[in-house]
Amino acid sequence: MEIPFAEAWKIKMVEPIHKSTLEQRLKWLEEANYNVFQLKSDQVYIDCLTDSGTGAMSDRQWAAIMTGDESYAGARSFFELKDTVTEITGFEYVIPTHQGRAAENVLFSHLVKAGDIVPGNSHFDTTKGHIESRKAFAVDCTVDIAKDTQLEAPFKGNVDIDKLDKVLAENADKVPFIIITITNNTAGGQPVSMQNLRDVRKVADKYNKRVIFDSARFAENAYFIKVREEGYKDKTIREICREMFSYADAMTMSAKKDGLVNMGGFIATRWEDIYEGAKNFVIPFEGYLTYGGMNGRDMAALAVGLRENTEFDMLETRIKQIEFLASLLDEYGVPYQRPVGGHAVFVDASKVLTKVPKEEFPAQTLTVELYKGAGIRGCEIGYILADRDPVTRENRFGGLDFVRLAIPRRTYTDNHMKVIAAALKNVYDRRDSITRGVEIVWEAPLMRHFTVKLKPLS
Ligand SMILES: *Cc1c(COP(=O)(O)O)cnc(C)c1O
Repeated sequence: MEIPFAEAWKIKMVEPIHKSTLEQRLKWLEEANYNVFQLKSDQVYIDCLTDSGTGAMSDRQWAAIMTGDESYAGARSFFELKDTVTEITGFEYVIPTHQGRAAENVLFSHLVKAGDIVPGNSHFDTTKGHIESRKAFAVDCTVDIAKDTQLEAPFKGNVDIDKLDKVLAENADKVPFIIITITNNTAGGQPVSMQNLRDVRKVADKYNKRVIFDSARFAENAYFIKVREEGYKDKTIREICREMFSYADAMTMSAKKDGLVNMGGFIATRWEDIYEGAKNFVIPFEGYLTYGGMNGRDMAALAVGLRENTEFDMLETRIKQIEFLASLLDEYGVPYQRPVGGHAVFVDASKVLTKVPKEEFPAQTLTVELYKGAGIRGCEIGYILADRDPVTRENRFGGLDFVRLAIPRRTYTDNHMKVIAAALKNVYDRRDSITRGVEIVWEAPLMRHFTVKLKPLS
C-alpha cells in the first residue's frame, strides 16, 4: 500500500477551543453589528478570519525568542534577520517594520506622491489604502481570467502584460513603480508565474521603472511555481525564491503570513537610494533602523520562521490542507475560486446566494450565515472590502464577492476542515431560502470593512 501524505510536523502544545449554541451566536452577532471583526475570539469556534499572525510557531522559533537580543542599536537578532532575508531574496538592505502595512507606509512615504499611478495585480486593501490616502491611484492590471472563478488555470494571480504596458505607455511619467502581489491575495490567493514576473520586469525595464513585490506569501508562490510551472520541479524553494526576487527591485513583507510569526514585517531592497529614502521615514514612524518596531526576540523568531517556511515539506503540508478543504467543497458542490489558492478557500458568494442582490452584499450575508451555523468565522473579501470609489463615492461592485476561509498555518487539523466544509454545505443546501442580505448603518471613509456596522434585511 502506498504510504499516505501526512504533516511535516508533530504537535507539542495545544490550546483549547469551544463550541457555542445557536442562541448565543445570534445574540453575539447582534452585539457585533453583524460584522465578524467585532466578535470576541472566545465567541468563535474555528477562526478562519485570516491567516495573518494566527499561525503556530515551532519549538525552534520559541527557542529563538529566548535568545533574542534586545539592544536598541545593532542587535544580533537584527543581523540574523537581515542575513536570512538577504540569503532568501538577494536583497542587501533590510529595514524591519512592525507589520506589512508599516512597511508600505514607510516605503510609500518615500516613493508615492499625489497624482501618481501605481499599477499592479489586485492591490491588497492596505496597499491600496496607502496609495489612495496619498491621493495617488492604484490601477489593477490583473489578468481577466482571475474573474472567472470556475476556470482552472495555474496562475490566475498574473499581471496582464498588455494592460500594464498600456498604463505605462499612457502615464509613464506618473508611475513611481509597479507593485506585484505574490501570491495575489485579493484574487483568491492565486499565484503569479515566474514567466509573468519575468515579463513584468521587461515592461518595467522598457519604461525604466522599478518593481516592488508585496511579498506576504512569497513562499507559497514559490511552491506553486515548483509544482505547476514547467522547468521548476527539480528546483528548491530557495532557488525559486532567489529567481523570483531577481526580477524585483524591492519588497514589502508582512511577516505575519509566510514569516510564520504573529507580528512583524520588513522592507528589503537591492538599491541604496531606496534604502536611504525609506530610512528617513522608518525612524519617525517605526523606530531605529535595526529594530523598526520589532522586538529583538521577534526578529530572531522571524529569521527562523523564514528558513522553515522556505522548505518544501512545510509548504506542502500547508497547501495540501487547503486542498483537502477544497476537495470536500467539491464533493458538496460549493463553488469557490478554482483552483484553490495558497492560504485560503475563497467561496464565490455570488454563485451561492444568487437571490441576494449585490447591493445587499451577498458575501457578507454568507459570512454571517456561516457563523450562525457553526461558529466559524470567515471574512468578506468582496463589495464591502472594495470600499467606495474615491472620486464618485459609489460602492464598487465591479470586482468579485468572496467569503474567504483563511487557514492559519500549522494550527488546525483536517478534522477542523471537515467541520468547516459541513457548515458551508448546510448553508449551501438552504441557499434558495436566503433572499435578503444586509445594509450598512455606519462606515468609515477608508478600509470600512474592519468597523462597518450592518443590519440584516428581511
Ligand atoms: C497582510 C498583507 C499586507 C499587510 O500586512 P499587515 O502585516 O497585515 O500589515 C499587505 N499585502 C498583502 C498581500 C497582505 O496579505
